[in-house]
Amino acid sequence: MYMSDALLEVNNLVKYFPIKGGVMRRTVANVRAVDGVSFALQKGETLGLVGESGCGKTTTGRVILRLEEATGGEVLFEGSDVLNVSRRRLKGLRRDMQIIFQDPYASLDPRITVGESIAEGLVIHGIGTAQERRDRVREVLGRVGLHPTHVQRFPHEFSGGQRQRIGIARALVMEPKLIICDEPVSALDVSVQSQVLNLLRNLQQEFGLTFLFIAHDLSVVEHISRRVGVMYLGKIVELTERAELFRRPMHPYTKALISAIPIPDPTVRRERIILKGDVPSPINPPSGCRFHPRCWMAREICREVEPAFEKKASGHWSACHFADEVSG
Ligand code: SF4
Repeated sequence: MYMSDALLEVNNLVKYFPIKGGVMRRTVANVRAVDGVSFALQKGETLGLVGESGCGKTTTGRVILRLEEATGGEVLFEGSDVLNVSRRRLKGLRRDMQIIFQDPYASLDPRITVGESIAEGLVIHGIGTAQERRDRVREVLGRVGLHPTHVQRFPHEFSGGQRQRIGIARALVMEPKLIICDEPVSALDVSVQSQVLNLLRNLQQEFGLTFLFIAHDLSVVEHISRRVGVMYLGKIVELTERAELFRRPMHPYTKALISAIPIPDPTVRRERIILKGDVPSPINPPSGCRFHPRCWMAREICREVEPAFEKKASGHWSACHFADEVSG
C-alpha cells in the first residue's frame, strides 16, 4: 500500500517469537505476533491501530522502533530502511521517532527527578548545553500542562494523568516527527483519559506531529484518528477513514467492535454482537480466515481460503470474502 508522501511505510512486517523446547532448546513453534502487516502513515495524520489484547498491535509499534527486531518485512521512515540501518543511523532515527508507553507508573525511573527524566533523551543525543536543556525541559513541561517548577519533583509525587503528561513531555522534548502512542490512556481513569487525548490532539496540531495511536478500545481511537486499522491475530483486517469505518464497516470483526461501544443516548439502542469463543492462539492460527471460528458470517470458503487484504472501496481495505455483505 504505497503512498509516495508517506512519513512511514510498513510493508509485510513480520515478528515471530520462537518457543524453545527439548534438551537442545530448538525452536519447536513460533508465536506469530505480527504476521504480514502493511500500512503507510502520512505526515501530520493519526492512524489508530486497534484490536483485542494479544492481536499484535503493541509488538507492531515496538518492531517499527526496533525495540524488538523484526523477523521479516520492511519499515521505511522518510525513505530510510529502519530495519537495516547502522546503529549510528538508528540513533539519529530514534530522535525523530518517539514512543509514549501505556503505563505511566512503570515508564518513569522513580529514582530521578522529572527534569532529569525529560532531559534524558537530550543528554543521550548530545543536544544543547546544560542550561539550554534545562530551559527546554521547563518549556516542554508548560506545553503538557504541568508547572515548570515540577522539574525538581519525583514521579511518585504525581497522579497517573500527570505522569502520562511527563511521558508525553519526554517524547516531545526531542521534537520528533513521529510518536507511537502505545495505549497512552488505557491505564488512566476515564475522567482523565479525555484530558490526555485533548492534549495529544492539541500538540499534534501545534507541532504538526504524526501519530500511530495504538489502543484496544475503538471508542478511544474514534476521537483522535483520521484513519483506523483494525488488527486481529497478527494481521490488519480492515483499514479506512474513521468516519467510513463507523458508517460502513467491511469486516465482521470491526462490526462487532463497533457494536460494543456504549451509546450515551439512552433512547438509542444498538444491537451488541457477542463474539463466540476466545481469540485463538497465535502459535497455531486457524486455517483460511483467522477469524472464521468466531465469525457469524463464516461459510465453507472461509475455513479453507485466506481472504486477501484488498481495496473494497475508495480508501477502504478489508480482508473478508464477503466484505460487501457485512454492513447490510
Ligand atoms: Fe467471516 Fe469469512 Fe469474512 Fe472471515 S472471510 S471475516 S470468516 S465472512
